[in-house]
Amino acid sequence: MDTNILVIGSGISGLTYAIKMAEQNPDIEITMISKNNLLESNTRYAQGGIAVVSNFKKDSFEKHVEDTLIAGAGQCDEEVVKFVVEEGHDRLQELIEWGAQFDVKSNELHLTKEGGHSEKRIVHHKDKTGLEIQKSLIKKIKTFANISLLENHTLVDLITDHHSGSEYKRCYGAYVISNLEQEIIKISAQITVLSTGGAGQLFSHSTNPKNATGDGLGAAYRAKVYMEGLPYVQFHPTALYPKVNGNTFLISEAVRGEGALLKSLAGERFMLKRHEKAELAPRDIVARSIAEMINQSGDDYVLLDCSSISEKAFLNQFPTIRENCKKVGINPPKDPIPVIPAAHYFCGGIRVNHYGESQLKGLYAIGECSYTGLHGANRLASNSLLESLVFSHRAALDSIEQMKKNLPPQDFYTHLPDWKGEHYISNKKIDAIVKLKKQLQNLMTTKVGIFKTSMGLLEAEATLKNIFLETQEIYRQNKLTLGVCELRNMVSVAYLMIKQSQGLKENIGVFYNQDYVD
Ligand SMILES: Cc1cc2nc3c(=O)[nH]c(=O)nc-3n(C[C@H](O)[C@H](O)[C@H](O)COP(=O)(O)OP(=O)(O)OC[C@H]3O[C@@H](n4cnc5c(N)ncnc54)[C@H](O)[C@@H]3O)c2cc1C
Repeated sequence: MDTNILVIGSGISGLTYAIKMAEQNPDIEITMISKNNLLESNTRYAQGGIAVVSNFKKDSFEKHVEDTLIAGAGQCDEEVVKFVVEEGHDRLQELIEWGAQFDVKSNELHLTKEGGHSEKRIVHHKDKTGLEIQKSLIKKIKTFANISLLENHTLVDLITDHHSGSEYKRCYGAYVISNLEQEIIKISAQITVLSTGGAGQLFSHSTNPKNATGDGLGAAYRAKVYMEGLPYVQFHPTALYPKVNGNTFLISEAVRGEGALLKSLAGERFMLKRHEKAELAPRDIVARSIAEMINQSGDDYVLLDCSSISEKAFLNQFPTIRENCKKVGINPPKDPIPVIPAAHYFCGGIRVNHYGESQLKGLYAIGECSYTGLHGANRLASNSLLESLVFSHRAALDSIEQMKKNLPPQDFYTHLPDWKGEHYISNKKIDAIVKLKKQLQNLMTTKVGIFKTSMGLLEAEATLKNIFLETQEIYRQNKLTLGVCELRNMVSVAYLMIKQSQGLKENIGVFYNQDYVD
């Protein structure tokens, strides 16, 4: 299959990028692949909203920049922070023009406040902002004749000089597996965009959906693309302790923004003595405090007391949270919500320039799979949807320019080699894949999670080596399946995270090695 632009992933980043490209270039062909259906993504589960300065009477770009820099713990790229904050307003307007609806009060956008923000600036759609955005973008994308949508297709590997034997030093598309037929397709493209989201599934408890296995990062690593900031994994402080249909459900920070309090089972409001902003302290501090409280008390969880929020306000602002809590027999705001921290957001990723291009020409990375310098060592709440919008726009502008330049001739793309390798996969191996995934998640949670030690990282590296060897054997001897692809990527990302964590010699942002504490 040949296309001009290949977009891998259908969250806010991929969809926004593809819409922008299609709007401005009706003559080019865009192909978008998505691992499951178009809807399933981290974006879909975003609850809180998008951080955008809207109330200029109280708020300012300077304040948002300042809050972002403080959260990022000295590791942000200030120039990036500035342009993302300033361009956010226009990008939000486009989203609204495309059909996304956000809550309004007295004819103005209703704004909420989340941890680390000095003002109310979170634009939201009740507590299902991501779903609203995702649905409106999907509706919009279906109006373009020049976009082909391939659901249930999974990126296997990027096509580079390694495959083509050429020396253009570019990316030429990707090998993709069709999940249902299990066939490997070559999709050649002049521009390839990774918008594959995060990798929360590396850990046992994650707010991310099951498909967040770091595939874009794994493929980029194999293409020798530079990755940065992987140790900066944000753990969301408050996920619902009982799983809902096997998934860990997020209790948005906005609930704390509206006045909910964290308490131990013994009734102590423990955040008061840990940070001046108490429950609204930066996420890493709240997550660590909850984990410490759980370790000290021996309890399985702490409680989020929502009793200061009226029944009407809770139902109006948090209907999805209430619905999911009710599924496991909890009735907020009357009942306190049992919560635990869970892996939530990857601040690190594929290093890109100010236009989302990686160090490999023709390969862009946008959204959660990228490292732009916005978040530094810790993301400020609700800055990620904002980053996705701003960088999708910038990457689209840059791609258009790049397509005007001297690219390899068309017949070069047509003659790229097909994928090599076909074998049979037995059910026994499928069991082995599931077992190895669980083993890896357990290893990452215990040794590379909220609390790390230098010895624990060494142990993790040694154990991961065995998981890697077993994975390689399965990969070499069997037909490639979705499960093998995911496991291979999870191992690669885990390895990079461990190695980069070993390289950090002080605690910064969300990175926390107990050996570095006095
Ligand atoms: C529960 C939850 C709540 C959140 N709340 C907020 C919030 O309030 N505000 C905020 O700013 N951020 C929030 N975030 C973070 C934010 O939602 C994500 O960072 C953002 O949506 C990422 O968008 P994306 O387009 O980069 O990736 P995603 O939305 O994750 O999309 C990734 C896409 O890539 C596809 N994909 C993955 N691997 C492959 C592959 N191998 N082949 C093909 N396709 C693939 C997936 O199927 C999916 O379509 C939240 C995240 C979660 C999980």
